[in-house]
Amino acid sequence: MPFLMRERLDEKMPWLALRPAHVLESVKKDTYKAVVTLGDEARVETVLMHNARGQWTVCVSAQVGCAMACTFCATGKMGFTRNLISDEIVDQYRFWKMFLHERPKLPERISNVVFMGMGEPLANYDAVKLAIQELLKHTDLGPTHITVSTVGLLPMLRKILKDPEWPAVRLAVSLHSADSETRKAMMPTSFDTFLEELMVWTKEYFEKNESRRRHLTFEYVMLSKINDTEMHAEALIRFARRVGKVRINLIPYNFTPQNSKRIAGPARNDSRSDSGRQAGSVYRDSLSVDFTRFETLLKEAGVTVMRRRTMGDDIAAACGQLIVEKTLS
Ligand code: SAH
Repeated sequence: MPFLMRERLDEKMPWLALRPAHVLESVKKDTYKAVVTLGDEARVETVLMHNARGQWTVCVSAQVGCAMACTFCATGKMGFTRNLISDEIVDQYRFWKMFLHERPKLPERISNVVFMGMGEPLANYDAVKLAIQELLKHTDLGPTHITVSTVGLLPMLRKILKDPEWPAVRLAVSLHSADSETRKAMMPTSFDTFLEELMVWTKEYFEKNESRRRHLTFEYVMLSKINDTEMHAEALIRFARRVGKVRINLIPYNFTPQNSKRIAGPARNDSRSDSGRQAGSVYRDSLSVDFTRFETLLKEAGVTVMRRRTMGDDIAAACGQLIVEKTLS
């Protein structure tokens, strides 16, 4: 149904392609997570985060589950169920709009949308593209306030370069290691020539979008002794030198349970410093000394690095923690 027609209808009878099952609020009240039910009873999660500008960022899911199976990600352990249609993606934004509208004490403006929820957005290219187009057309969001995060699906990344209708949104590529063997061990979608091919793609992206150079970032989840050593920092510096000026976003690792049977709900990692907090996970977050050394090495080499704030980990709403128990009723 056309967006405008739905907006008009909504004035008379609110209608969304999804029903909220429950909304969790973080202790700091800066993050909310909703588990929403779709028409076929499938469930996905969407997150509302307070951002540095005093406004909100909405994190949307693009798929029910995910087929990419990244070893450190909770959604990756669920397996893939289905793609979302564009209405189901846009309605995650509209759901939060209504949520804020009903709570006048909270800031009302959603200034950013990130495709960093469940699923691999570029594996659902057409619906994601349509959802972005709808958001751009019918909301006050501009393309630089929308970010699509991808595991690095090269055929789709190449398609973006050739697709005149792909909106000029920000892209974030989940790099996580510039050492091929390490990346392959962390991400089953990686392969021997992945990094070489990604470098070629990145150069091409920069050639085509010189003015949008800073709209491409590489995400790097920091895993203790796995990808945070000096060798890994050097590999990342070499990667950065070969493709030209890049931006690296260092992400603190968020605990994910090994056992995918857990439902969405308060996470067990309520103490960030005790050694039991990551029980059940093969990964641990980088020690702060290693994190800082890694960051310093990059900075000294002239690489632009940012640290992502962790939000909503007490309600399992942080990156890589989104998981929905399929049999939840
Ligand atoms: N499929 C997309 C979106 C995934 S979620 C992608 O791969 O980019 C957004 C980011 O969170 C990705 O960079 C993802 O690798 C990262 N992530 C996944 N699990 C995480 C975890 N447990 N802790 C921190 N970041 C994680």
